[in-house]
Amino acid sequence: MRLIFLGIGGTLPTADRSLSSVAVEIGSVRFLLDCGEGTQKQLMRSNFSYMKLDAIFISHFHGDHILGIPGLLQTLSLNNRRKELYIIGPTGTRELIEHMERISFYRREYSLIVGEAEPGEEFDVKGVRVRTIPSRHSLQGLIYRLEEPTPEYVVNRERVKERAAEVGVDPEEYTKMLLKKIEKGESVDEELLKRPRPGRSLVYTGDTAFFEELVEFSKGADVLISEATFPSEMEEKALEWGHMTVAQAARLAKEASVGMLFLIHFSPRIKGVEGIEEVRREAQAIFGNSAVPEELEEYVVRKRRSPPGKPSK
Ligand SMILES: [Zn+2]
Ligand SMILES: [Zn+2]
Repeated sequence: MRLIFLGIGGTLPTADRSLSSVAVEIGSVRFLLDCGEGTQKQLMRSNFSYMKLDAIFISHFHGDHILGIPGLLQTLSLNNRRKELYIIGPTGTRELIEHMERISFYRREYSLIVGEAEPGEEFDVKGVRVRTIPSRHSLQGLIYRLEEPTPEYVVNRERVKERAAEVGVDPEEYTKMLLKKIEKGESVDEELLKRPRPGRSLVYTGDTAFFEELVEFSKGADVLISEATFPSEMEEKALEWGHMTVAQAARLAKEASVGMLFLIHFSPRIKGVEGIEEVRREAQAIFGNSAVPEELEEYVVRKRRSPPGKPSK
């Protein structure tokens, strides 16, 4: 799984921060989590191919999360995209996209498949399992959990190579034979297979206040991408505006025993490099595996050997 943080700013862009959007690659599937204004420019500066994009997930309809969509849709068209594009969001997404398509003239030659997810709904997009719960924000919204499927088996290449050599068959041919046997449901030597590592999972909060159910929903995720709009001392304001503080996001990560926390969506109140440094320090003091990504910074999330352990007390 590869992540590129295209924008880490919340509410409005600043000279040095772009708005919310994270590019995610899971195997060969490519998603965008939100698409704030300026996202397409950030995509062009990254090595994420927007032409190969499969789906855009919308957390909610505030401008800082969606205003990049119309421009991106048009750019895809101008680049002769033919592949369909999924857009998934809360109730009202269909109407929103219809409006967006009418704000300027363009001809679209690819199909848009717009899906409205009910809070709590589970579905698959391009083989990735998607689960949602409603957020607690000033506007209806969804929190997403994306799960890569865990394969039923993995071929043990080394053993297969040895076995193939023993019987004098090309290892590639031997692997093909083995896979065919499995496909047909025939039993094969267990020694030739490995226990697969569990598929990776990611939770994206969008904008939300902290609430208990979020801990359960995020439990054991490999990656938690959480909003951390406010400095830690502004917990009351955060609750009132439907956002989290840095400390709340870090506590969420700790309680949910996630693998890694990425904090994003910072209010312009958190100023400059020093402000970000402070966020990093505070978050890491609560949850060691916290990171504040730089814009356009890329992270590779490897598969874990075993599912994550119990939450630390
Ligand atoms: Zn926002
Ligand atoms: Zn919002």
